[in-house]
Amino acid sequence: MNIKGNLLDVLSQLPAGVKLVAVSKFHPNEAILEAYEAGQRIFGESKVQEMTDKQKSLPKDIEWHFIGHLQSNKIKYMAPYVSMIHGIDSYKLLCEINKQAESSRRVIPCLLQIHIAQEETKFGFSFDECRNLFAQEKWEKLTHISICGLMGMATNTDNLKQIETEFCSLSTFFKEIKHTYFAQNPDFKELSMGMSHDYLQAIAVGSTLVRVGSKIFGERTY
Ligand SMILES: *Cc1c(COP(=O)(O)O)cnc(C)c1O
Repeated sequence: MNIKGNLLDVLSQLPAGVKLVAVSKFHPNEAILEAYEAGQRIFGESKVQEMTDKQKSLPKDIEWHFIGHLQSNKIKYMAPYVSMIHGIDSYKLLCEINKQAESSRRVIPCLLQIHIAQEETKFGFSFDECRNLFAQEKWEKLTHISICGLMGMATNTDNLKQIETEFCSLSTFFKEIKHTYFAQNPDFKELSMGMSHDYLQAIAVGSTLVRVGSKIFGERTY
């Protein structure tokens, strides 16, 4: 596996302003270091325990993004160091992150996950659930989180037209929320969408953060 070559390939396709989260879940420290030595600093993980073990043994200037499904009892382990949490899909989780961030005297950047795929299995708020959350205003009292944008996953399909439609709907929704609730807040700027098989489609409609794993590190063995 030529990790450095794969990484540089992906980076060369990203327009200015689009950042890469190199998804290193299930890959060993050696693989992460190879990407690190090629200049990559943002890595994505989907298990808190695995991410925390890696954070302890790898260089301290790595920015760890949590992209997995959250369990509230695990948040405390990553609160001291996590750079961004992507997959938040309830107000309750936001409250728990806020509480743990306060204990660590931090403000944790968060992205709300929106359900755009056709599969039942992908987590996330519906557009209306998300609108309701913002309309209720109680989120504004959570002073130890910073809502920096939205995240979504398209249906796992070869139908590029469908993927494009789903990403487009999220991009439009992102603009609506930004305009309605964050017009004065420049922190709300990230749209996390696109993985190995669909990041080019995601970039074409406004993604600012792509989460690419297997295209860089190879297939995962679970
Ligand atoms: C694993 C994962 C990725 C990376 O997937 P690849 O297909 O390997 O690029 C991106 N986003 C999330 C939420 C993931 O769980």
